[in-house]
Amino acid sequence: MNQSTLFGKTSKTSPKDEVSTNANLLIRGGFVDKVMAGVYSYLPLGLRVLQKVQNIIREEMNALGGQEILMPALQPKEPWMQTGRWSDPGPEVMFRVIGREDKEFGLGWTHEEIVTPLAKKFISSYKDLPLALFQIQDKFRNEPRAKSGILRGREFNMKDLYSFHANQDDLNTFYDQAQKAYAKIFDRCGLHALVTESSGGAFSKYSHEFQVLTENGEDIIFYCSKCEYAQNREISEYKTGDQCPKCNGVMAEGKAIEVGNIFKLKTRFTDAFDVKFTDENGKQQPVLMGCYGIGPSRVMGAIVETCNDGAGIIWPAAVAPYDAHIIPLGEEEIVTELLDEVVEELEDAGVSVLVDDRAATVGAKFADADLIGLPTRIVVSSKSLSKGGVEVKRRREQTAEIISKKDVLTWLQK
Ligand code: ATP
Ligand code: MG
Repeated sequence: MNQSTLFGKTSKTSPKDEVSTNANLLIRGGFVDKVMAGVYSYLPLGLRVLQKVQNIIREEMNALGGQEILMPALQPKEPWMQTGRWSDPGPEVMFRVIGREDKEFGLGWTHEEIVTPLAKKFISSYKDLPLALFQIQDKFRNEPRAKSGILRGREFNMKDLYSFHANQDDLNTFYDQAQKAYAKIFDRCGLHALVTESSGGAFSKYSHEFQVLTENGEDIIFYCSKCEYAQNREISEYKTGDQCPKCNGVMAEGKAIEVGNIFKLKTRFTDAFDVKFTDENGKQQPVLMGCYGIGPSRVMGAIVETCNDGAGIIWPAAVAPYDAHIIPLGEEEIVTELLDEVVEELEDAGVSVLVDDRAATVGAKFADADLIGLPTRIVVSSKSLSKGGVEVKRRREQTAEIISKKDVLTWLQK
């Protein structure tokens, strides 16, 4: 991709109406554009990151045995009346839409009211269980405070998985597997997420949140810095300085971003929609459910919040929009020839590259490379050539080095 034709431009100045680090850097870097509070457009660079996060999640959901579906955002009122959630939490959370003849609809902020009746149509016997369905789709929530950039959208992307089970043991086993899959997802995305006990609602003691410690987080958790046992402050029995209940460490307080949440719903929704199956003895039994959410857009925001420095974003390799930023300096034929050779070799090897072919100063190009934050920067110039090849630098490191053209691929893969 040539940067001169890439849609979206970097900006030196911070947007006036944003207070969060993620929105500031993502807007300045040309990743997203703000439409209104809590609502953003994703430009090509931002969409590439979002899709990489989604694909990591998709791979792990498939490995868990999940089957991908796509449910509608526009939803009828009736199933929400049936669960009581049309009025509680009601419009506090759900955007309502009036259609023809004053018919009311809602925009989905979660999908139990759609997925449970859907699963009911296909579950009749124990042979139909267990079942795990997931989707990656946009959700709508009437959030009161939408000032944290893409961390808290009024429209935002979510992966939601719903599991259906014949008994508690089976739900418990799947829940533990889902927890492991979540840990793997955050790890692959370059995030360190603490499994945090939180309110389980009426149906179980705890649910589990995945919390990423950072000063800009909206949640507060108590955690053990030694074994990482953690509880959300909302339910915590601990305070700073208490001994950890799991080891000889000490509990500390920290701000954190909730990037994922897993929950045993048990029969909360299957009761509401009367979802039963026939067991091995021909007896009717209630189906048990679990739900498991991750916000890919919030994950992207959490990565920006935790991976940046004064100059810009530092994307973890697995989610970076491109692998390498190539900066040619000068128009000499030897430079363009070398550039073409390097680009061809890298692209043939499956390395994605962004070439800064703009007519800009060296300083401006380097500043933009730091702001955009691709994992590696490769400078091709007559100066680098005279020193023996191309100049390479990792975004995380301060110093550049000269390597010969034929070593670029091995250096990148190191
Ligand atoms: P929060 O407590 O932060 O409001 P929640 O507990 O209501 O979130 P869930 O309903 O469990 O969130 O949603 C699952 C996941 O979706 C969350 O873990 C988070 O990653 C993401 N998410 C929830 N709300 C938002 C939002 N407004 N913007 C972006 N992502 C969100
Ligand atoms: Mg939550």
